[in-house]
Amino acid sequence: MAAISVVVTELAAKVLATACAMNAAGINRGSAGNVSVRCEGGFIITPTGMAYDSCTAADMVIVGADGTVNPAAKRKPSSEWRFHRDIYVARPEAGAVVHTHSPFATALACQEQGVPAFHYMVARFGGADVRCAAYATFGTQELSDAILNALNDRCACLMAHHGMVVVGRDADHALALAVELETLCEQYWRVLQLGAPKLLSAVEMARVLAKFATYGQQDNKAGS
Ligand SMILES: [Zn+2]
Repeated sequence: MAAISVVVTELAAKVLATACAMNAAGINRGSAGNVSVRCEGGFIITPTGMAYDSCTAADMVIVGADGTVNPAAKRKPSSEWRFHRDIYVARPEAGAVVHTHSPFATALACQEQGVPAFHYMVARFGGADVRCAAYATFGTQELSDAILNALNDRCACLMAHHGMVVVGRDADHALALAVELETLCEQYWRVLQLGAPKLLSAVEMARVLAKFATYGQQDNKAGS
């Protein structure tokens, strides 16, 4: 792999800043979650098992699209590098991936529940629901396959007995979507306390999706 460029150094700093922001936003704790951004020939991802506030950009790890870790890397990549890699390969629009064990998304995921159309903002993630990927052991190809399946036509999914993953056009977008999804999961959790949730119709969710396609800064792009 070529020498580490200024662009890669800047992207590595962005990966670290996003990982720290994820924890500061309260959607992740410790080193549980991970963040990556696409770079030429692959992606840059947070290292495994390190506290982000004690990392420097040089601790971020470059991984090729074939899963090969850059030989110059100081650290081992996140144990979840495989699903990050598979998302970049399968989803050309993906510029960044954020994975967290955020409290409310994880609570729903531990009940193997996705998020149905209880609120119109669910459409922000590309469809009438946010699915929950089937459980598989962390770090496995089986987990990656389950996530890719749940992400079909979506830019986010929950992960059974694990957490959530969000795909954005860049790191800021992915982080913002992760915060939005955790917010929706908290709202849905509260709704569930009130009894059987009342859901919007498929027709209404299709209308909302059509509006989002042309709304504001078109933030829904990564999911459509
Ligand atoms: Zn995880």
